[in-house]
Amino acid sequence: MGCVGVSEKAGVSARGAVLLGDSVACDAFDADRPLRVVTHAHADHLVGLRRSLKSCDKVLMTAATRDLIGVVNGSLPLDCGSVELLEYGEPFEYGGERVTLLKADHILGAAQVLVETSEGKRVAYTGDFRVDGTEPLLGCDALVVEATYGSPWFRRAFKVDVRELLVSMVEERLRRGTVYVFGYYGKLQEVMQILRRADVCVPFVMPERVFHVSEVCEAHGMELGDFTLSTETEGQVLLDEDLPCVAFYHMNTRKKVGLRSSRICVSGWEFRSACRQIGEREHLVAFSDHSDFCGLLEYVRRCSPKRVVTDNHRSNGVTLAREISRRLGIPAVAMPG
Ligand SMILES: [Zn+2]
Repeated sequence: MGCVGVSEKAGVSARGAVLLGDSVACDAFDADRPLRVVTHAHADHLVGLRRSLKSCDKVLMTAATRDLIGVVNGSLPLDCGSVELLEYGEPFEYGGERVTLLKADHILGAAQVLVETSEGKRVAYTGDFRVDGTEPLLGCDALVVEATYGSPWFRRAFKVDVRELLVSMVEERLRRGTVYVFGYYGKLQEVMQILRRADVCVPFVMPERVFHVSEVCEAHGMELGDFTLSTETEGQVLLDEDLPCVAFYHMNTRKKVGLRSSRICVSGWEFRSACRQIGEREHLVAFSDHSDFCGLLEYVRRCSPKRVVTDNHRSNGVTLAREISRRLGIPAVAMPG
């Protein structure tokens, strides 16, 4: 660990646990930490959760995150006594430390984590986030930042509104029949909500797991309208006959379904243009649930912490740490080193 980790009680372990204060490990298991925080339901933030559920005093998360994990990862014992559900802004006290989850604009239920230590230090972790909808954590002694798009190459400098583009692409393609949308859990549901809010009223069809994730999103306040299972007769007929509907599938099934229909893949890993053709009837749309490089810098600038640690476990944090030091004049290190 560099001096940042030792002096400010914030760091990232070799296994990807974001360590805050004396008690808290976020997003991976750590044998020495009695509190585990799950910032959101994506798999790279659930590392060792089964062990945490067994051995930690408490496992903290939002109710939406618990429900999403329940449908995507059904075998985990989430009803064991250690799970503690927190609202955004509701403090949890443990051994002289106070842990608070604050909203992060990423997927449903996603949180930033603030720990106020017994010595009066404020140490925090962003989790995954988009800068526009995420309130900056102010007055931190140390801030751990995600680094997914932490290199100057990863900038989305498009002039177009990607949400509007998505709506117009779907509407245009619906005239020819079914439109398949491929993406990850959480983001697919965000696309559904964008389309519904733009008055796209055709049926939404989806396989079982996407369906259950959608049910959770709706139970927690997202507006997805009616949606139907691809295995039920209505959904089957719509897809078999290529009728106007939007079919939502996980990115992993892209090579297997909807091969003869219009297809839209939503991905954050696209920086050249807002939309790019990648197949005969297939387009990639640059719709991300992460900040790009400029967004990461902007967030750190707004927070203005005393020190920064970049997550060098889930992505390459070295460049981001260097750019934060150089451009913002804030000491920053990548961890684990
Ligand atoms: Zn994520």
